[in-house]
Amino acid sequence: MVFTALAFIFGLLLGSFLNVCIARLPKDESIVFPASRCPLCHAPIKYFDNIPLLSFIFLGGRCRACRAPISAKYPAVELLTGVLTAAFYARWSDNLPWLAVSLLAVYALIVMSAIDFETMMISDFFSLLLCALGLAGCFFNPFFEGTWAARLGSFALGAGSGAGSIWLLAYVGKAIYKKDAVGEGDIFLMGGIGALCGWQGVITAVIMASFFGSVYGVSLLVLKRADRLSHMPFGPFLAMGAVINLYSLIKPEMFFFVLPF
Ligand SMILES: [Zn+2]
Repeated sequence: MVFTALAFIFGLLLGSFLNVCIARLPKDESIVFPASRCPLCHAPIKYFDNIPLLSFIFLGGRCRACRAPISAKYPAVELLTGVLTAAFYARWSDNLPWLAVSLLAVYALIVMSAIDFETMMISDFFSLLLCALGLAGCFFNPFFEGTWAARLGSFALGAGSGAGSIWLLAYVGKAIYKKDAVGEGDIFLMGGIGALCGWQGVITAVIMASFFGSVYGVSLLVLKRADRLSHMPFGPFLAMGAVINLYSLIKPEMFFFVLPF
């Protein structure tokens, strides 16, 4: 319990760093220097105003210098990183190599998702990173079994089926809608997710992503925040499916018991 709480605090601090990555990686800026500044008035943010979650609350969500509102996405990323770090610690603390691999994957997915929401771009850097993590972690992957050769096979099959399924979805989507339904970045992203979750995780992550994406899309339509032609990123929803599967693999047959088809 104490360690889970520490994992939460560690996650909050790391979420603060992920915010820096989210803001600077798309602009090719260094994630180390300079120190964080207010994006509006460029006043440097003092260390006591940079405490995850708490500073946002104490400052009433505004910059101390210019009183400009601070985006709620910063505390949201911190809280999400804290909660997921604690949850994954509680789930996988008996398999430390996998805990490390799955948490690094979760952090990469958070940064990738936030950037995809803002820019509609998925850098192949994240997909390659997930693939490398899948390869490094396949010997400890609790969802794979058998000899080391069988585990390498599960890794390769997962990566191939992940990229292949989205490529097929893109191909069919283009044939039907005569426009790009999913981006090229999603193909590589799903290859990386498959490398970690295996072929069964690919199937259920895509099903969950389609469900979450539909709910989000319909909500935007209802709230009149978007119209039918608006572009919507798919990467963050694939990432949600992936995080659920990294926490505890949902196998395809589980859906057949839940859904009446
Ligand atoms: Zn300011």
